[in-house]
Amino acid sequence: MKQLPRFSIGVGDRFAHQAKAQLAACIQAKNAGIEVVPVWNKSNREHNIIGSDPSQTRKAADAAVKELGWNAPFYLDADHINLSTVERFLAPCDFFTLDVAEMIGKPADAADVKAFVGRHPELIGKVAIPGITEPFHTDEAFVTAVANKFLAAVQDAGRIYRFLVEKKGDGNFVPEVSMDETDSPQTPVELLIILAAIADEKIPIQTIAPKFTGRFNKGVDYVGDVAQFAREFREDIAAIAFAVQKYGLPVNLKLSVHSGSDKFSIYKSIHDAVTGSGAGVHLKTAGTTWLEEIIGLAEAGGNGLEIAKEVYREAYGHREELCAPYATVIDIDPAKLPTPEAVDSWTSEQFVSALRHDQSNPAYNPSLRQLLHVGFKVAAKMGDRYLKALESNEESVARNVTTNLFDRHIRPVFLG
Ligand SMILES: [Zn+2]
Repeated sequence: MKQLPRFSIGVGDRFAHQAKAQLAACIQAKNAGIEVVPVWNKSNREHNIIGSDPSQTRKAADAAVKELGWNAPFYLDADHINLSTVERFLAPCDFFTLDVAEMIGKPADAADVKAFVGRHPELIGKVAIPGITEPFHTDEAFVTAVANKFLAAVQDAGRIYRFLVEKKGDGNFVPEVSMDETDSPQTPVELLIILAAIADEKIPIQTIAPKFTGRFNKGVDYVGDVAQFAREFREDIAAIAFAVQKYGLPVNLKLSVHSGSDKFSIYKSIHDAVTGSGAGVHLKTAGTTWLEEIIGLAEAGGNGLEIAKEVYREAYGHREELCAPYATVIDIDPAKLPTPEAVDSWTSEQFVSALRHDQSNPAYNPSLRQLLHVGFKVAAKMGDRYLKALESNEESVARNVTTNLFDRHIRPVFLG
């Protein structure tokens, strides 16, 4: 039975070259007294952009685990898949993020909605959840509206889950349901209603990724009301604990924070909420490691710095097309982007200062960082030339990848 431990970190590795450096961060956590297990995640979208295959991620992860002697669990996440994209993930993956965002808002069968509401009188009226001070007040119209919005999506997750059971066997993978890539955040009471529907559908989910309040842009800090986030995060944890007990969902069910890298201003809230409640958390990161590759190359100087500048030049030239698939999760101010000619004259230190996510550095440039975040397609097009540069500058790249994951992510979220 695959059972995800209390603390886990999603580590995306665009070019399947950093598994060892990422695992080294989990080893540092272990040495500091806390187990944080790695989950190598890569979405179908990233595989398509790069032209890679999930079996390459599996190979890299297995090799790293063997070489560094990691003997705790580790997983491979088929991130944001659905029935039409899951096929090539089946063999290499043992963690599946069932993406049902597209179905949210599509009306479910009216009879199914009615049956759901009839089955759950406990969700109507005064809903008191231990750990949440004020009870929620709902009525039948509200629960019906929530069911109308989410039931079809949950039924879709059920179809994907049953397909996976058929292919992989019951208990041989960790199921997650993700609803983060949608328009509006889900409130704690909506989350509870969704969990009731997931339990009805008999999906033993171990993680759920709601859309939280505020903006989770790629590669940069959280934008939003931190106090409100903290309150909702605590209430989501309470709603999950209540649903586990009430509906018999897996006891290790926990929140999954997608686009979780670099959200420095909410890490303390997450840490305090999980330590205060005993809950677990999965922090999903991905592109932050790709950015550390570029930082490591730039810092190494020589041909590494040249490659970093070339990636910027190309990304700058193709920014509309690169940004399009990420339009809802980036905020680039074009006026703040230096010209490639200006960047060409930069030293290693200037390049690294602009890119590294150090908000105390006046030279840090979030627009440049976000542009490079979506610029991995440029490196993919360089092919072997980029991979060779990673290999010949491995020390500098690995040092930056490990430091970023441990010092800026694992430490504040899991160690506090
Ligand atoms: Zn996501």
